[in-house]
This record gives sequence, structure tokens and C-alpha cells, in this order.
Amino acid sequence: MRQHRARKIAGSILILAIASLGLLGCKEKSHKGHWSYKGETGPSEWGKLEDGFASCGLGKNQSPIDIGAAQKGEKSQIVFHYSKSSPKIINNGHVIQVNLDPGNYIEIEKRRYDLLQFHFHTPAENTLNGKAMPMEIHLVHKDQSGSLAVVGVLVKTGSANELFKTLEKNLPVESGKETPLGAEIDINDLMPSDRTYYSFAGSLTTPPCSEGVKWNVLKTPLELSSGQVEKFSALFPDGNARPVQPLGERIVLEHAENK
Ligand SMILES: [Zn+2]
Repeated sequence: MRQHRARKIAGSILILAIASLGLLGCKEKSHKGHWSYKGETGPSEWGKLEDGFASCGLGKNQSPIDIGAAQKGEKSQIVFHYSKSSPKIINNGHVIQVNLDPGNYIEIEKRRYDLLQFHFHTPAENTLNGKAMPMEIHLVHKDQSGSLAVVGVLVKTGSANELFKTLEKNLPVESGKETPLGAEIDINDLMPSDRTYYSFAGSLTTPPCSEGVKWNVLKTPLELSSGQVEKFSALFPDGNARPVQPLGERIVLEHAENK
């Protein structure tokens, strides 16, 4: 009799356990705030995952884009003030991001935008004439009023890059914890020698896909060795690039270097 009761209790516990697993499953299914680069929480669904993500589905100036025919714009309006920095690095579950202390900035038409962080997408997000490079670096800047300006650097494979040699020794495999890089880097090492760029209006390429971002994508790619690119892409097997979005009414301008 007692044994029977014990079995009954064990049975109830098992049912409870299964039920709570089911609840967890439901919670997972609602995907509140959770987004990814694949399947039910992938880019085509972002706009539906949360009210705050509506721009991802409805926005008219979304990034990335395919940069095709560009109109000739004025010579470069960007002045770079990049120097050495001892940053922190984090795997936030979506990208590897390098967070910087104040000091690096760009000026666009005499307006100062401070460099907050840079991060990496594999493959590249913005494409050139339909072709995606293996990687893209986004240097994210903010002005005093909170407006964002991103400098996008496309990456092609070739010789190894010095800055990446430092980063790859400290790549965080686990997500969520920001750690000091423990070494100094020179942000100029992320810049190709020619700084001709394309400018266009766009958005964040990750939820909430907020618009009003000034995009500046350098025409000349930076070289990294294939092994260096591989180290980043291996951390995100589904890739971490949003597909290109319709250009719509937007115009892309090409700005030659102002020498
Ligand atoms: Zn990005």
C-alpha cells in the first residue's frame, strides 16, 4: 500500500515536472525579446517579435542595403580622430563587440560623433553590387543629441591584420560577460588606406531596427587573413548578418577621399 502511494507521488512529481517543462516551452515559444538569425526568431520575423521591434518589419529606411549605382557626392565630409585605446570586449550573444572609453571620434560636417564601440558581422551585411564580403566591421558613433553615425568597413581575405591579432587572443566564446581586452589597440588599424565611402540613410541592423542612422560604408575593403575571419564566423555558426533591405526612395552617394 505504502509503495503504491510512493509510486503515485513519484508519478505526480513527474507530471508536474513535465508540465513545467511544457510551460517553459510556451515561454520560449512567445519569444518575447528574443531574436536570432535563423528560423522562428530570424530576421523575417523580427518585426513581429515585440511591439518595440515594429520598425524591423515596417520601416522604409532599413539597413543593410545592396550598394549598387551610387551618385557622385561631395568629397569626403568625414574627419577621423582615431587613436590608441585599451578597450573591453564582450560576446553579447549576437556579435563580438569591443567597447571603448571616450577619446575616439569622427567629425561629419563639423559635427562631432564619439566612437562608442565596434563589432563584427559574418558575412558582411551591406553588399556591393549584390556581392557579400566575408565580414563587415561596424564602428558605432553618437553625437551629443543621441544621433548615430556608423562607419562600415568591409573585409576581404588577404594578409593578417594587426588589431585582429590582438583581438583573436581574447575572443569571448561565452556570451554575456564584458572583460578588459588587456592590451592596447590602434583603431586606425581598422581603416583601409583609401577612405572613399558611400553614404546613405539607414537603421540599426539589429532589433529594434531604429531608423535615423547615418551610414558611411568604405568602398575599399580591409584585409584580414582567412584564419582571422574564420575565428569570428566559428563563434556564430548561423551567421550574424541581416539580409539586405529594399532601398526604396533612398539615394546612395559616393564621396571621394578629400586629399
Ligand atoms: Zn552592426
